[in-house]
Amino acid sequence: MKTIYLDNNATTRVAPQVVEAMLPFLSDMWGNPSSMHTFGGNVAGHIENARRQVARLIGARESEIVFTSCGTESDNAAIRSALATAPHKRRIVTTKVEHPAVLNLAKLLATEDYDVVFLPVDGLGRLDLAAFKHAITDDTAVVSIMWANNETGVIFPIEEIADICHKRGVPLHVDAVQAVGKIPIDLRKTPITYLSISGHKLHGPKGVGALYVRRGTPFTPWLVGGHQERGRRGGTENVASIIGLGKACQLAAAHLEEESTRVANMRDRLEGTILDLIPRSHVHGDREHRLPNTTNIGFEAVEGESILLLLNEHGICASSGSACTTGSLDPSHVLVAMGVPFSRAHGSIRFSLSIYNTDEEIDFVLDKLPGIIKRLRELSPVA
Ligand code: PLP
Repeated sequence: MKTIYLDNNATTRVAPQVVEAMLPFLSDMWGNPSSMHTFGGNVAGHIENARRQVARLIGARESEIVFTSCGTESDNAAIRSALATAPHKRRIVTTKVEHPAVLNLAKLLATEDYDVVFLPVDGLGRLDLAAFKHAITDDTAVVSIMWANNETGVIFPIEEIADICHKRGVPLHVDAVQAVGKIPIDLRKTPITYLSISGHKLHGPKGVGALYVRRGTPFTPWLVGGHQERGRRGGTENVASIIGLGKACQLAAAHLEEESTRVANMRDRLEGTILDLIPRSHVHGDREHRLPNTTNIGFEAVEGESILLLLNEHGICASSGSACTTGSLDPSHVLVAMGVPFSRAHGSIRFSLSIYNTDEEIDFVLDKLPGIIKRLRELSPVA
């Protein structure tokens, strides 16, 4: 059975060109980039090339890129560094809809005497900028707000948020794990202090990420050890994965237009036809300001997990809530924050596409899904 993969916000296929770029660093080129000899030094040169490729995708300088082990590490390192830099400041401003990589850290810090503000969102998942401005005080050590939501795809107005932070002199960390490679990002124009990237969300390998740290920002490493990454992150580099991340960023820059046209068209056709064919289905999130690849749809009177199981029987991979919260019976914290009724939140499915999807795959899903929902509703006591 063919796999139809519509779960790209959970992870993505590693691009064949990325695999190819990585292979030499898993075989012949196994030197340590910190070594004095040429054998290791050659590897260091390739790491610098990867740094350039990452920097180019987001309009950064090479020296502003620190390689990490994942998006989660980038998030933790940025927030911890901002706090260490301003130990007298106690306020952290974030949102209720962050990924657990930020949300759970913020909750932990709230138990450590930090005054953490979790900003609400409205029914479409949008942030109230007036409430945001109000939350920033002279005591604010850091603001951490995601660029795009992993569950709904809703894009926050990061340019405006960055301007506000800049004017108030407050460092801004942006979790851009879902945004990088899907929408244009130019850090020359947007005064963000720290920005997190993850390899496996943009057709790179798992277990590698990057943190952008704006030039001139004092930085306290989270992982203390050797002098790697100019003393900003200890530990011998995951060379092959770093090379893969660089290649993935280079490819993403070339694919941005396809993301916003072909991928968005497939997503819109999938979403529009589902809404037309399946009664009592609703899109969650602001359709005007959304990633091109994501749709989150709630089906009344059915369980998301049951839909996933039946889709899975046809080889169709999607997700209910975020992959990280699958397995828990609680409805997604993002949909709860948006005030989505409990029954609809429980019956919600996220489809997230990529450049590797085809129109034929979308046709296949549209052929199967209405029958699945009908069958489940016939079995449902609340339908
Ligand atoms: N932030 C967001 C918005 C994400 O979607 C994810 C992964 O799902 C992460 C952070 C964590 O990234 P990683 O899996 O590389 O730790």
